[in-house]
Amino acid sequence: MSLSTIKSRIHTAEARAGRPQGSVTLLAVSKVQPADRVRAVLEQGQRVFGENRVQEAQGRWLPLKQEFEGISLHLIGPLQTNKVRSAVELFDAIHSVDRLKLAHALARLAQERGTCPDLFVQVNTGAEPQKAGVMPDQADELISQMRSMDLPVVGVMCIPPFDMDAAPHFRELAEIGARNGLPGLSMGMSDDFETAIEMGATHVRVGSALFGARVP
Ligand SMILES: *Cc1c(COP(=O)(O)O)cnc(C)c1O
Repeated sequence: MSLSTIKSRIHTAEARAGRPQGSVTLLAVSKVQPADRVRAVLEQGQRVFGENRVQEAQGRWLPLKQEFEGISLHLIGPLQTNKVRSAVELFDAIHSVDRLKLAHALARLAQERGTCPDLFVQVNTGAEPQKAGVMPDQADELISQMRSMDLPVVGVMCIPPFDMDAAPHFRELAEIGARNGLPGLSMGMSDDFETAIEMGATHVRVGSALFGARVP
């Protein structure tokens, strides 16, 4: 699907939900995609991208940031504490903060650098054992601890269980965001971004619908 088709579907979903046009940010998820597909989308004006691995993102984006103005990079994959420094140097936002140890590492770097990417707390709304994210009943505590470290928490993020109705997960994430006074809701991917927008998503993460299937 072309970038303009995705954007018009986003605008339609915003209108249907009675939300102002432009209230949803499209993250073009470029992980694993061939360089020519990513370049084509950049040339059509897209500037916000999501990547799930720090090293892969460095290799791709350090040169592209020299070439294109105004690129904003969002980390959407798990972050190990030994990669935090590279991550904060490259990314404008991190959507996958899910534990205290990582928050402490981010806080130390924020102190040292005087700046920190926008942070989203990833919530494991399906309570899946193998999946990243703080458990829903621990989310409030992690958010309040991060705030006490002066970290810029802007929202919450979830990846609903595969082949399950995503709507209840989006609803639960929206509730967690609302009761913590967090405006950002990072939810919705290629198959369900319109549902997510209906439920309040501010950031949708769209990969394969935009770039085509990922070739491993
Ligand atoms: C890969 C990925 C996406 C994009 O998935 P698509 O189904 O290709 O749109 C979104 N969010 C996260 C966290 C991902 O890892």
